[in-house]
Amino acid sequence: TNPGCSASLDASKLKITLSETLKPLQPIETLQFGKTFSDHMIVATYDPAVGWSAPEVKPYGPIALDPASSCFHYGGNAFEGLKAYLGPDGEARLFRPDLNMRRLERSCARLALPPIDGDAVLELVKRLVNIEKRWMPEESGYSLYIRPTIIATRPGLAVTASDHALLYILASPTGPYFPQGLEAVSLLAVSDNVRAWPGGTGSHKVAGNYSPGFLPQIAAAQQGYDQILWLFGEDRRITEAGAMNFFVVVKRDDGDGLDLITASLDGTILPGVTRASCLALAGDPEFQKETSLRLHPQEKLYTMSDLVKWSSEGKLLEALAIGTAVIVGPCNRIGYEGKDIVIPGNGLGPVGTALRKKILDIQEGRTNWQGWGVV
Ligand code: PMP
Repeated sequence: TNPGCSASLDASKLKITLSETLKPLQPIETLQFGKTFSDHMIVATYDPAVGWSAPEVKPYGPIALDPASSCFHYGGNAFEGLKAYLGPDGEARLFRPDLNMRRLERSCARLALPPIDGDAVLELVKRLVNIEKRWMPEESGYSLYIRPTIIATRPGLAVTASDHALLYILASPTGPYFPQGLEAVSLLAVSDNVRAWPGGTGSHKVAGNYSPGFLPQIAAAQQGYDQILWLFGEDRRITEAGAMNFFVVVKRDDGDGLDLITASLDGTILPGVTRASCLALAGDPEFQKETSLRLHPQEKLYTMSDLVKWSSEGKLLEALAIGTAVIVGPCNRIGYEGKDIVIPGNGLGPVGTALRKKILDIQEGRTNWQGWGVV
């Protein structure tokens, strides 16, 4: 047995093997999402006989796995995505990382992967961020994207839960998510393919949720749309946009400001960290005062017919795609049944702008808010 192993992942046992040659940094304007990786990664393995190995920082590079490993055949893969920002004080900050870690624990449990302690993963994420500080661009909007991943490594083809796992944490310097920067994205509403369904895994961040979306995404691109607006059910419920949560801003009938509407967490929606943060900010009296916006955050079932109706009545003011990578991004049109629902303005409206600014200010450490920025 390995003396470094313990039943649960132990970040204090971290072994550090640094790379002998460091990669040259790339000019930030050439960064594309998830294409460049830092010098190091963190790796730990789980073996049922000994538990989690001592985690190790090692040079970024290929991993050798038995080709019969469960992950290659049955998709037992869970992951997370969070960003580290360099603040004006020179400190690196994560944004509400506890929420990512709880979600990782839930994703692993859903796939019956060996149990993982999210707090230990967070400790490892912090260590990696500190080691890779030179990879964090100082410019606003740029960050180090962190990708903790847990994969099923049980060697064998039996169709059963994996009792072996590999954890690895990667770091990738990143700028704006969409090549077009903060320009608006167009969405094609799709209902013949579905992203998630009741009782499925849509509310978990597991690899199997993603690749079935690639073919419909290619078809949408061929029709001239940037991303898919995933619908669900006979009543064409609005769920998510691409791999982002989706919000609309609708003028209220009673004259009391605006509704900020998103689908409720019914099991088909990924509980996004950015989604939760936008809902919390929108309902906060201090934020409303600061931004002179009267907002009513609402998590509820809403459909394409609602959207068509709000649009025809001139009440649909903004449509927003929301997630860690994009933060808050504008949508300018939604293709549905051969026509486009056009969202007024081109770019972020007042609500999208206010939410984006506040979240970036917290992420980049210009302001603190409820302890959301974690040094
Ligand atoms: N929906 C899906 C399907 C996603 O993959 C993501 C990205 N994790 C999101 C929404 C946004 O979640 P978050 O704000 O936590 O990044």
